[in-house]
Amino acid sequence: MSFSTLGLSEPILRAIADEGYTEPTPIQKSAIPAVLAGGDLLAGAQTGTGKTAGFTLPILQRLLDASPAVSKAPRVLILTPTRELAAQVEASVRTYGKYLSLRSAVVFGGVGLHPQIEKLRRGVDILVATPGRLLDLHQQKALDLSKVSIFVLDEADRMLDMGFIHDIKKVMKLLPAQRQSLLFSATFSEDIKNLADKLLKSPQLIEVARRNKTAETILQKVHPVDRDRKQKLLSHLIKSGDWHQVLVFTRTKHGANKLVEQLGGDGITAMAIHGNKSQTARTRALAEFKSGDLRALVATDIAARGIDIDQLPHVVNYDLPNVAEDYVHRIGRTGRAGASGEAISFLTVDETRFLAEIERLTQQNLPQEVVPGFEADMNAQPMPIPMGRQYINGSLKKLNISGPPPRAARPASPSRPASKGRHQSAKPRQSRGA
Ligand code: AMP
Repeated sequence: MSFSTLGLSEPILRAIADEGYTEPTPIQKSAIPAVLAGGDLLAGAQTGTGKTAGFTLPILQRLLDASPAVSKAPRVLILTPTRELAAQVEASVRTYGKYLSLRSAVVFGGVGLHPQIEKLRRGVDILVATPGRLLDLHQQKALDLSKVSIFVLDEADRMLDMGFIHDIKKVMKLLPAQRQSLLFSATFSEDIKNLADKLLKSPQLIEVARRNKTAETILQKVHPVDRDRKQKLLSHLIKSGDWHQVLVFTRTKHGANKLVEQLGGDGITAMAIHGNKSQTARTRALAEFKSGDLRALVATDIAARGIDIDQLPHVVNYDLPNVAEDYVHRIGRTGRAGASGEAISFLTVDETRFLAEIERLTQQNLPQEVVPGFEADMNAQPMPIPMGRQYINGSLKKLNISGPPPRAARPASPSRPASKGRHQSAKPRQSRGA
């Protein structure tokens, strides 16, 4: 099947050809006709499936087919959970719409409000936004949402994870009742289903990769390693494998910063991307990584969400995620749209439970491979994992962590001294590190 059979006009097909795409991906084959037909859509697709083009291409077509805009207010609103994803989606809108005379803009927090107000004042057809800044702009009376005829909620699961549910509901109230709504989500929890019930009218359901399934083009393996040898193992893999572009995930911002320093000490260029970094620093790190100037980009989950890099060859879970769904999202950065990639996870004796949860969720057993010279003692005493101001238990073995952990288990440099009552007991609350 080629793109030309999907009902897209010549200027859009030309932009697709410029990108070198010859065939629509499965989500595109289903989503493009569904969106063109004008109904609502509930799509299950993780990042890497080509979902952005899956909604952007038919939206451009619908605007092309519609009568010209009568006001300067946006006709399409695309909401994303993170700034990076917002920027990337808008870049896609510009890429696929380069032969059209439609105007797009992206608005997100962390940068000045006034240039965004100016841009909106000049007129925008397609607006890509993160929820907080969108509501700010509306409150400042800089934004009219009454002309929105197509509304897209991208990565809805992550939006809910990030606590955006109230903002989403506020945005929904500002939109005209008569509109087309599209909801994209990698996973379907009860909360997502509830949101879909409120947002969508008789939606068409499209699900490409099975729920919580990892892409088959990704070679996944696990390297058992002792906790104090993780960093040296990473440097060894990068150097011995001659890796030039590796995305590394750590559990905490502090861990990301520390690893960047240590990699630097081993002569490996690296930068961190996480919630404490300014927008400028994040954009710079991403640009240097994409251009090949940086060998390693070290990220926490939330910051890395939506990073779109073509054919990223290596992803390393330096720390296994304590929320199993994050594993699927993380390794979705590699092996995209048919390209092959490698996802490596480090496993310490402290993280065996996280691996078991990931294997249960993705319904697979990940092969474990010991790297010679880095043999791990998997019978060692597991230790609670420091995470900000609390500790979590990632071991299948029962840990007694109701009191302060043994001296050796304390993190090397928490800003506050360990105190009683701060530690998680047997069943820890799931928490995130970004
Ligand atoms: P997404 O799932 O939207 O993050 O897209 C993943 C990657 O696939 C992006 O880098 C796109 O440039 C690429 N892509 C999207 N559609 C196609 C296609 N039909 N053929 C090849 N690559 C594609």
